[in-house]
Amino acid sequence: RPLIALVGRPNVGKSTLFNRIAGRRMAIVEDEPGVTRDRNYADCEWDHRAISVVDTGGFEPGAPAEHAPDRLMRQVREQAQLAVDEAAAVVLVVDGRAGLTEVDRSVAGLLRRAGKRLFVAVNKMDSGGTEAEAPLSDFYELGFGEVFPVSAEHDRGVGELLDAIVAELQVPRTPAP
Ligand code: GDP
Repeated sequence: RPLIALVGRPNVGKSTLFNRIAGRRMAIVEDEPGVTRDRNYADCEWDHRAISVVDTGGFEPGAPAEHAPDRLMRQVREQAQLAVDEAAAVVLVVDGRAGLTEVDRSVAGLLRRAGKRLFVAVNKMDSGGTEAEAPLSDFYELGFGEVFPVSAEHDRGVGELLDAIVAELQVPRTPAP
């Protein structure tokens, strides 16, 4: 089963999306950015196709973005590199309310150069285009092709993202028992 890695800055909603994909509440969702977490793996099925997902959380404690931007940049890049090394596809999760940041752009560059299958999930798009949300076109500069608006919290757009991933990876259907 192919492994799909969720990569992104703290607080963009990776563990919420992980829980949504895994279909159960395994990862711990924290309001505080920079909380240490273990990397969580889950085996799951989508459309009768077996996949695994990893949430590449696990940031050092006490390193919120505003206090240690260099450290944050280094950590997110390290996690992106690990994801590239182990996963068949990488989903860069960004925050549709905060818009793109320097860390997002830097990690996107690393991922593009790695030559892996890439998807960008624009999270926190809860209401489909209100003023609080950045226009989707803002995210095309990341150079990932299609951009998927999702709301991990409200379970919007996650199915479309998974459809695209299993299609791109050509994950076979699990035979019926
Ligand atoms: P992570 O650090 O990237 O794993 O982010 P978390 O999953 O811990 O989420 C960070 C914060 O964003 C939490 O307060 C979540 O409740 C919130 N969040 C996650 N997904 C959504 C979403 O789809 N919409 C909104 N409005 N908030 C979200």
